[in-house]
Formats: sequence, C-alpha cells, structure tokens
Amino acid sequence: MKKRLELTAYKNGILSGDRVILSQAITLVESTLESDQDLATELVQTLMVHSGNSIRIGITGVPGVGKSTFIEAFGKMLLDQGKKVAVLAIDPSSQLTKGSILGDKTRMENLASDKRAFIRPSPSGTTLGGVSGKTREAMLLCEAAGFDVILVETVGVGQSETAVKNMVDFFLLLMLAGAGDELQGIKKGIMEMADALVIHKADGDNFEPAKKAKVTYQNALHLFPVSQKNWIPKVLLASSTTGLGLEKVAELVIQYETQMKENGFWESNRAAQRLNWLEDQIQFLLGLAFLKNPEVKQVLESEKQNIQSGKLNPGTLAKSLISLFHSNHKS
Ligand code: GDP
Repeated sequence: MKKRLELTAYKNGILSGDRVILSQAITLVESTLESDQDLATELVQTLMVHSGNSIRIGITGVPGVGKSTFIEAFGKMLLDQGKKVAVLAIDPSSQLTKGSILGDKTRMENLASDKRAFIRPSPSGTTLGGVSGKTREAMLLCEAAGFDVILVETVGVGQSETAVKNMVDFFLLLMLAGAGDELQGIKKGIMEMADALVIHKADGDNFEPAKKAKVTYQNALHLFPVSQKNWIPKVLLASSTTGLGLEKVAELVIQYETQMKENGFWESNRAAQRLNWLEDQIQFLLGLAFLKNPEVKQVLESEKQNIQSGKLNPGTLAKSLISLFHSNHKS
C-alpha cells in the first residue's frame, strides 16, 4: 500500500503551490485503487472552487512536427512574461506496438528543470476515457496550485485530439510545410477543430515553403463553415529554433480569450465541457464496474471464441451481458 497524505495536507500543499505535493496528488488521481479514488474525488471536489482561472491550450500534431520543442520554447517565453506554466501530456499508447508514443525520449528538459514550470506526462497504457478523465483532474489541481497557463500536449494520430479538444479553451495544430500535402496524416476533422494552425520549423530553407503553406492553409480554412463562436482559425508561422512567431501565438490566444469572453462562448464552452466530463466519467466508471463483475467476466471469457469465429452476434452477447450486469445490481 502506497503512502498517502491526509486530504487537508494535499489541499493545503496544492493551494500553497507545493509542486511535490501537486505531483503526489496527481499520482493519487491517476491511481486505479478504489481507496485512492475516494480520496481523489474528494480532493478534486474540495479544490474545484479554486480552479478554472487559467487558459487551457491543447497542442497537437504528428510525431516529429516539433511539439515538445515548441512547448519548451513557447513555455519558456510565457515564463519570461511572468506566467506560471504547467504542461500535461496525453500519451495514447500505440495500438500496434503497445508502446508509448511520447515517452521514448527525454522531453522538454529545459522546461522541466525550470522551477517556475510544472511538467507531467500522463500514464500510458490506460484506456483513453480514463486518461483524459485524469488529465482533466490533473489540470484542475494545477489550476488550484496557481498555474495560469496549462498546455495539454497530444499526438495528432487518433481519438486523443477529440478528448483534448473537449477539455481546452484553445486548440492549436502544429503542421509542417512541404511535407507532402496529404495533410501529413492529419485528418480534415482535426483541422476543423483547430483554433489556429502553426506552420512550424519556419526557419532556414524551410522559411519560404512555410510562407507558401501559410497562404494555402489560410485559403483552405476560409472554405470551412464559420463556427458558432464566430472565429475563423488563424494560420501563423513559427520556429522554436529561432523564436519566430512565438509571441504572435501568445497574442492570438489572448485575442481569442478576449473575443470569446465577450461573446459568451468561453463560459458556455466550459459549461459544455463539464457536462462532457460527466458523461466520460459515467461511461468510464460503468465500463470498469462492468468488466470487473465476476459473472460478466466469466460469460465474456467463455463466449469470446464464438464471437471471434463469427458464430455469435456481438450485439446479442452484449445485450445479454448487460442484462446479467443489471440483474446482479438489483438487490
Ligand atoms: P515531436 O515528436 O512533435 O514532439 O517533435 P520534437 O519536438 O521531438 O522535434 C522533432 C525534431 O524537429 C527534432 O529533431 C527537433 O530538433 C526538430 N525541430 C523542432 N522544432 C524545430 C524548429 O523550429 N526548427 C527546426 N529547424 N527544427 C525543429
């Protein structure tokens, strides 16, 4: 059994900005032990009134586009502007290799060693519903600890962007110029989610192609229907090596915040996200309880073969498993 603190020790530690305790508290919310979960939910509930005062920025893009380098450079600039920056990384384990996509290299060393910043990778290997739920909680704890910019990093390869989009205020997509115009494996849907595209690595020989790409993407984005929040996604150039464009990105985020607060979208979006969080958590917890149920487990195991061979309709089995689960919970 791991050592845990008392609720008030976590609470006071976080509110006083103690990073070690913040880190321990995030470990607590990430724990799958039921005893930890009770304490974790209580802690999150206690700290909710102290949360919400940050700008939450999601950052995505294919591996190699320069996300971690960008976050280092952008994060450092924000620190120098006097902001307190926390970075949370959602790392969906690769379905194919069962390995971690983000975790295989030392990342953001400079930012990580800066006492003004806080960096936290999310655990890999958990189901996405679980990971994104925990990231929301980690975000809230960071806010209670006084961080005013939260950068949430995710790899632009799957469902995780939608999960991140649903928990941030501003969604940034990093892209490369001249890397083949099949949108670099980025689906159109992800472009539609973005509030800004950043053509990254706009330096050296890549500067001119980046300028051209900017125009192309800008034109493409103008063809998308204008969203209800009345914001046409902007395209910017940036280089994390030279620092070009980083300040513009920060200015754009502030412009977005001002505009969305004025038109009411900021708060309505957060309200919708809280409901979405509830739905995610219900699904996640139901799923967990379902799969833990011994009778369900047994039938699932014994019928697996019939599903794999195509003899049994998955819909039929799912339905009878749900009935079994229900009858187990009627008492
Ligand atoms: P990630 O997989 O998206 O996190 O990408 P990384 O941050 O690990 O960067 C991938 C590669 O691109 C590394 O070799 C970086 O040095 C390089 N890189 C990152 N940002 C820039 C940039 O602004 N300009 C140039 N020229 N290279 C960069």
